[in-house]
Amino acid sequence: MKLAPRINQVPASMTLAIAAKSKAMAADGIDVCSFSAGEPDFDTPDHIKEAAKTALDQGKTRYGPAAGEPQLREAIAQKLQTDNQLPYNAANIIVTNGGKFSLYNLMMTLIAPGDEVIIPVPYWVSYPEMVKLAGGTPVLVETTAASGYRITPEQLRNAITPQTKLFVLNSPSNPTGSVYTPAEIRALAEVVVEADIFVVSDEIYEKIRYDGVEHLSIGAVSPAAFERTIISSGFAKAYAMTGWRIGYGAGPLELIQGMNKLQGHSTSNVCTFAQYGAIAALTGTQEPLGVMLAAFTERRQYVLEAIAAIPGLSCPKPDGAFYVYIDIKSLGMPALEFCERLLDEHYVAAVPGDAFGTAGCIRISYATGLESIKKGCDRLAKFVHQCQ
Ligand SMILES: *Cc1c(COP(=O)(O)O)cnc(C)c1O
Repeated sequence: MKLAPRINQVPASMTLAIAAKSKAMAADGIDVCSFSAGEPDFDTPDHIKEAAKTALDQGKTRYGPAAGEPQLREAIAQKLQTDNQLPYNAANIIVTNGGKFSLYNLMMTLIAPGDEVIIPVPYWVSYPEMVKLAGGTPVLVETTAASGYRITPEQLRNAITPQTKLFVLNSPSNPTGSVYTPAEIRALAEVVVEADIFVVSDEIYEKIRYDGVEHLSIGAVSPAAFERTIISSGFAKAYAMTGWRIGYGAGPLELIQGMNKLQGHSTSNVCTFAQYGAIAALTGTQEPLGVMLAAFTERRQYVLEAIAAIPGLSCPKPDGAFYVYIDIKSLGMPALEFCERLLDEHYVAAVPGDAFGTAGCIRISYATGLESIKKGCDRLAKFVHQCQ
């Protein structure tokens, strides 16, 4: 079959493929330690589920506005005003099929053939592919472990050309867990404004931070930065709602209206009663988030100590999200082979850095129970030792 060139130019999502393989092994009765999942291992909090059930009982089962239920758009605008000092109204919000579709929709709405999109490396697996699917050109900028895998204002400035349309910022970051400091965000905002480009700030891990590090949204830096900012976020990570498929975009009215048109011809509205769960997530108790954070904090500590004790491995300390990004270059084995053997021979699923644009690293997710983490770290240590 001759498929469209558009789809032939992108690989399948590697993170989804590895997660599927490890789930299949587990279903076969193998005791797999899954460090590959990009999702919290917690269940959606009860009050959120209850709200969706009530909505279902109340007959919220029909088509709604493509941009989302008005009440949810309002609640998101409120959240962005209060938590992030971003003066959005409900009209600036579009509810999307996960954070993933807000990003894809943005690329389709903003990026034209020939446009360049600057993406720091390592990047979240789908950014460059989304840009390519939209007909744009990803411009990849390598960052280093020494800089905490954060792009510097100089690097951003040097990557900008007359074709640059958009800069993709992700803090806290998947896959590295790094969080930009407020000073770094301000310096990047200055470059964005000076060059008059747009920035999309993927803030889906905003709530998952450690040691009291701050989160500053780049749109809050100045009115000029705000005009050029698009926020992408969602409910999957902070509220353990990955399967619900609810995210959102926030940005200038004209852009959101464009994204709404695209949505009207593609997904239409996100599942109506699910959106009522999202309203409860924003307006209800935030206590379950605290419980989840306490668990992530303990696991992060354990993983960092375990990695530090394995000769040959190193990683910067992550300030957010639930990943560590481990440098394995000293082992002299490609990350793809390392992860394949780690899974096949030691039953530990991790994701090769190739998925994120850096070949000599692996990503470990600690969004899994502490017992499994302990076992998995022991197996990892054993395998690394064998490799040496
Ligand atoms: C998980 C994730 C998303 C989107 O997830 P959804 O499940 O589509 O809401 C977006 N960006 C990053 C960096 C992520 O890790």
